[in-house]
Amino acid sequence: MAKFFFRYGSMNSGKSTMLIQVAHNYSETGQRAIIVKPSVDTKQEGIHSRVGISKPVDIYASENDDLYKEIKTLYKKDKFDAVLVDEVQFLQPKQVEQLYRLTVDMNLPVIAYGLRTDFMGMAFPGASRAFDLANMIEEIRTKCTLCSKKADHNSRRKNGEFEKSGEQVVIDDGTQVEYVPLCSKHFLQKVGL
Ligand SMILES: [Zn+2]
Repeated sequence: MAKFFFRYGSMNSGKSTMLIQVAHNYSETGQRAIIVKPSVDTKQEGIHSRVGISKPVDIYASENDDLYKEIKTLYKKDKFDAVLVDEVQFLQPKQVEQLYRLTVDMNLPVIAYGLRTDFMGMAFPGASRAFDLANMIEEIRTKCTLCSKKADHNSRRKNGEFEKSGEQVVIDDGTQVEYVPLCSKHFLQKVGL
């Protein structure tokens, strides 16, 4: 039976690059993986990695979309072999359940990439559901921006200042807001619990 993989990591851990690489590996063996992305992350069309490669998205998921139905409909039109999900933390918990059901009902592997927690150290509901259900959980490691130790947290800087409160989802538009991975020590020091 196909599995639901959750590969989580902090900001800038190379999740999008990995996703694009996996899509590429499928196509090299004559298979196809479709890409699903929440429409909340509307910075740019497609998936873009920090190393400069990009890939088009097959399904942009809005809050009320039934991903089970949508993916099944797409499959009937043109078969594929796997479902890759970018930014799974922004999906609704119900949508994560819909993806999980696909692994069983359609024997389609689902590989979801995302963040575990927000800039205040709180779980994203979509990520939390992915942890609940995933058959395989894998960590993508990255380094703290301030000391190069392993980063387990995300933080958000606005005009250079670490934010301690605010909206959970503010998309990095490359001007005012930037997301920074931090180790535990620096997270407690700069953001706090
Ligand atoms: Zn640190």
